[in-house]
Formats: sequence, structure tokens, C-alpha cells
Amino acid sequence: MARHLARIHGTEEDKVNCPFYFKIGACRHADRCSRIHHRPAFSQTILIKHVYRHPVREAELKAAREGRNVDGIDVDEEEAREEFLVFFEDFFMELSKFGRLEALHVCDNLGDHMVGHVYAKFSDEEEAADALNIMNGRYYLGRRLEVEYSPVTDFREARCRDFDEDTCRRGGFCNFMHIKPVPMCLIRDMEDDAEDERRREEMERRKRRERERKERRKKERDGDGGDRGDRKRRSRSRSRSRSRS
Ligand SMILES: [Zn+2]
Ligand SMILES: [Zn+2]
Repeated sequence: MARHLARIHGTEEDKVNCPFYFKIGACRHADRCSRIHHRPAFSQTILIKHVYRHPVREAELKAAREGRNVDGIDVDEEEAREEFLVFFEDFFMELSKFGRLEALHVCDNLGDHMVGHVYAKFSDEEEAADALNIMNGRYYLGRRLEVEYSPVTDFREARCRDFDEDTCRRGGFCNFMHIKPVPMCLIRDMEDDAEDERRREEMERRKRRERERKERRKKERDGDGGDRGDRKRRSRSRSRSRSRS
């Protein structure tokens, strides 16, 4: 029985748990879904919702604002690509401060439940927790970051293989992740930079701790010098309150 439940969990056969939320961390029915979206209390993966400004969606919004027909919009592909790489680098470097990234995926999907989603998988849950706590509620280019733990840890199940082969017929409205490709050499460069940055920070932290230890020891050697200072301050404030009365 238990084995059967484990086998069907999050599959089409599972009538209780939503297979889309389980595999992709996003379901088009959102809170109206008839099946359960089991949100993890901890995870190695965080999802930063709708943070990447998809160029097609942005162009559509702009056209709508200006009262133009949204069918005729076109996007400067090269400019969009440049902007995406800047965005990717920003997030890669910022998130790397919390730990080593095992994956950073930006969705190219256009469906309302997935547009602009960014998934970051860390090497452990503690790093992901730090990232969530610090990043949630911060702003990026005027957009408030909404961060949650994601059940997705294996992106092979989540990504659309047809998109990777450039053959997905559902286009932007596919319900599997269309992960925007990033050149491997760029990722390697950023990994090296992030590693250096972390090492530098660790060294700073160690120096700071050493300094604090020395100061503590000095205070201890000076006996109750610190206490005497306190007493002097206290008597001063007492005399001040007396003079005011
Ligand atoms: Zn669902
Ligand atoms: Zn697809």
C-alpha cells in the first residue's frame, strides 16, 4: 500500500496531489486546483516568482497601454538576449552569496502561472533558507521579490525536452519549463567569480572574529575597567536627571 502510494505520488494516477505542482512547482489552476499543492517547509530549491521581465509580455503590456494591437508586436531579439544575460548574471552573483548554486533556471514560458519564474537550487537547504529569508520582499528593478520554497529538485522531470530541441509546438504556453539557455562558459566564469567572492568574505569574517576575540581578551585583562566606565556613565545620567528636576 505505502509503496503504491509512493509510486503514484504526483503522477496523473494520483487523484490527491497535483502532478504539475509536484513536478514543475507551478500549476495553471493555482489555488483553485482540485488537487493538493503540497508546499514544502524546506527545500534546496527556491522559486522567485515572475521576476524576469519576459520581452514578449513586456511588449504586449506596452502595446496595450498605448492602445495598439497586441498582435502586431515584435521584439528585438538581440537586445532581449543581452538584457536577459545581464539579468541572469545579476541573479547568479546575488544568489551565490548564500551558497553554491547547483542550478539557476529562468523560464521562457508565457502562461500567467509561470511567466518570469526563476528557480535557484542550492547545494543544501540551509543556504536556500538564507536566500529566501533575505531575498523575499526585496526589490529588483522596481519589482518586489516574492520567494517561496519549491518542491522541484530534479529539473529533468520539470523541463520541456521538446523546447530544448527547439520542437515544442505549445510555444510559450507549454506547461513544462522552457528553460532559457545560457552559455556554459559564462556559467563557469560566474562560478569562479562567486567562489572567489565567498572565499574573500569568509576571510573577512574570520578576521572580524579574531579582532572581536582580541578586544574581548583585552577587556578581560583590564579587569573591571568596562564596569567602571558603566558606573561613571550611570552616575552622570543620574546627576543630569537630578539637575532637570
Ligand atoms: Zn494543481
Ligand atoms: Zn514545451
